Amino acid sequence: MDENLNLWHIARTQFERAAPFIDDLHGWRGIAEWLFEPERTVRVTLPVVMDDGYVHLFTGYRVLHSQVLGPGKGGIRFHPNVDEDEVKALAAWMTWKCALVEIPFGGAKGGVQCDPTALSSEEKQRLTRRFIAALNHDIGPHTDIPAPDLYTDEATMATVYDTYAMMHPGENNLPAVTGKPLNLGGSHGRAAATAQGVVFATEHFLEVGGMPGLSGLAGTTIAIQGFGNAGRNAARLFHDAGAKVVAVSDTKGGIYDPHGLDLAAVVEHKDSTGSVSGVSGTKPLAPKEVLELPCNVLVPAAIENQITLENVDRVQARLIVEAANGPVTPAADVQLAARKVALLPDILANAGGVIVSYYEWVQNLQNQQWEEHDVVGRLRSKMHRAVEQVVTRCAAIRQGLNGYSEAWSAARPTEPPLPPPNLRTAAYSISLERLRLATKQRGVWP
Ligand code: NAD
Repeated sequence: MDENLNLWHIARTQFERAAPFIDDLHGWRGIAEWLFEPERTVRVTLPVVMDDGYVHLFTGYRVLHSQVLGPGKGGIRFHPNVDEDEVKALAAWMTWKCALVEIPFGGAKGGVQCDPTALSSEEKQRLTRRFIAALNHDIGPHTDIPAPDLYTDEATMATVYDTYAMMHPGENNLPAVTGKPLNLGGSHGRAAATAQGVVFATEHFLEVGGMPGLSGLAGTTIAIQGFGNAGRNAARLFHDAGAKVVAVSDTKGGIYDPHGLDLAAVVEHKDSTGSVSGVSGTKPLAPKEVLELPCNVLVPAAIENQITLENVDRVQARLIVEAANGPVTPAADVQLAARKVALLPDILANAGGVIVSYYEWVQNLQNQQWEEHDVVGRLRSKMHRAVEQVVTRCAAIRQGLNGYSEAWSAARPTEPPLPPPNLRTAAYSISLERLRLATKQRGVWP
């Protein structure tokens, strides 16, 4: 069966599945459209002088999805798949993520369509400068604040900061971008924050009894797809917490050792060869094979649309923790729920990145630098609280399902029946409820 892998369509499907579980449906439909559609979509053409002297044109996007709860917040990615629908979906997920973990930000995202692996660091820097200059007043510390994402890092954020600061002399520009290097207004704990949040979420989900038979990370087997900022740090932190990382992968392939990988050897191999493939004593895997191994917890930490109708039947993990944004499609979600495979959704599991970005922004506004244990302690509390809220909400909507189903059928008589609610639907329902309340409190201007 074919499935629609357009990310904006996927975001819509997820939104529609949660909408019936929002309290106070009265007047909801008009507000729902407002909460779903992006506030602003900007497309820019970027001429960049390449190292060979030729000018190459790139296309960039920045979507400000919502400012209902605060200024837009979201990363910038460099990737060949970047297009308007992808950036719109990623921006919407940021809105729902920030609402879920109760930080005073809306959602945004940006991207440039390019092959980052083919760019020299100088070309990447020129591209970043041109992108930030082209966005001009569309970003800023109180309107829309960028951060790192796929194939961008703290060096890219240093360039974003420098470019923005050149365009706004005489101001405190540090809060205009997060994920900066530590000595340039960055925060302790930001580099590993996404992965740290993934580990805190997984650990606490097990502690609160989310997976009968698994009460903690000690001895739990983990497979991770992707070995960049999110995947590499997650491997290290899961290992430090007592779990056994049995497989990791990147674009070139994967490696598997059922007894647990020697992570120091994997990191050294990745740094010296550019890939995790080929570490001695490990079984080689094709890039997507990592998703189908026997393990307790699977952590997709690469890109979107990795677990689809095509391979969902072969997933053997009992728990999926979405470090990446959008790695599991709505159709695969339904199949996993039917097989009682639990899933911690992206807007919950990978929220650690934006939570510590928020802490960085607060520190920058106050010209302060917090201690690492302070940042990590605050992150742990926020992740634990969000996990508890989502687990509780999921149980509540499952219990009250009949009442909700009737409300849904009455509101949308021609729509197909709702799939059984899962943790994603529960997380969305909390976020949308908070956004719904904020729009009600603020009113619709004018
Ligand atoms: P990154 O560029 O640092 O690393 C990406 C990794 O994924 C690399 O190891 C790359 O080889 C691998 N990869 C890419 N395509 C792949 C494929 N088709 N198959 C297997 N591996 C593949 O990026 P990142 O910052 O780690 O982001 C990874 C995911 O996490 C993205 O979905 C991103 O949106 C999400 N995320 C990142 C952050 C953050 O703070 N960096 C925060 C929240 C969510």
